[in-house]
Amino acid sequence: MKAAVLYEPNTPLVIEDITVRKPQAREVMIRTAVAGLCHSDLHFIEGLYPHPLPVVLGHESAGIVEQVGSEVTYVQPGDHVITCLSVFCGICENCTTGRPMICSNTDVKLPPGKARRLEWDKPEQLHTGFNLSSFAEQMLVHENAIVKIRKDMPFDRAALIGCAVITGFGAAVNTAAVKMGETVAVIGCGGVGMAAVNGAFVAGAGRIIAVDNETTTRNQAWGDGSGESQ
Ligand SMILES: [Zn+2]
Ligand SMILES: [Zn+2]
Repeated sequence: MKAAVLYEPNTPLVIEDITVRKPQAREVMIRTAVAGLCHSDLHFIEGLYPHPLPVVLGHESAGIVEQVGSEVTYVQPGDHVITCLSVFCGICENCTTGRPMICSNTDVKLPPGKARRLEWDKPEQLHTGFNLSSFAEQMLVHENAIVKIRKDMPFDRAALIGCAVITGFGAAVNTAAVKMGETVAVIGCGGVGMAAVNGAFVAGAGRIIAVDNETTTRNQAWGDGSGESQ
């Protein structure tokens, strides 16, 4: 299968032929349908976050389950799923006290450089990014790194839930704990900011003020920046 590999910061990703090994007990093989390019991916590409290289990045994705390991119970081949970069074990102290997003089990939440899921014909190890590596035609992930979705949900919308939507929605609903009738200002309206606007609306905000540079907002919200603002 093909994957986009980052060899060095500030160089273009290179499309390479690679393979993924077969799913182990609780792993799931997914055929990637859509992968977003998140600004966090760009931080790695620009060298602002260190990571063992070469690596296949990508973490905001959706696809179809192709194969499951012998102990997987959550999904079966054919299921549609979105990916989640905060994979959890469900049994460590953080998971059992309601904080699975900071799971500390490094057998499930593999630290950078530990995963041996991607294979190719070069001597150096090809690293997995975010326990997912969505910039590839297939993803091999732990079953606790995916969430099932309805089959009629479009993959391009669903993929956004994997990062931008939960980040922005969570900022409004959990972090800011917006209450009914409150006035909310969201500063910066890219993918995360737009999701924060939606989160504030769902939480019942009385007035929501979206603050951004007009050009930036139009480019990020409507794709190419060439058309009229809608
Ligand atoms: Zn992201
Ligand atoms: Zn855990």
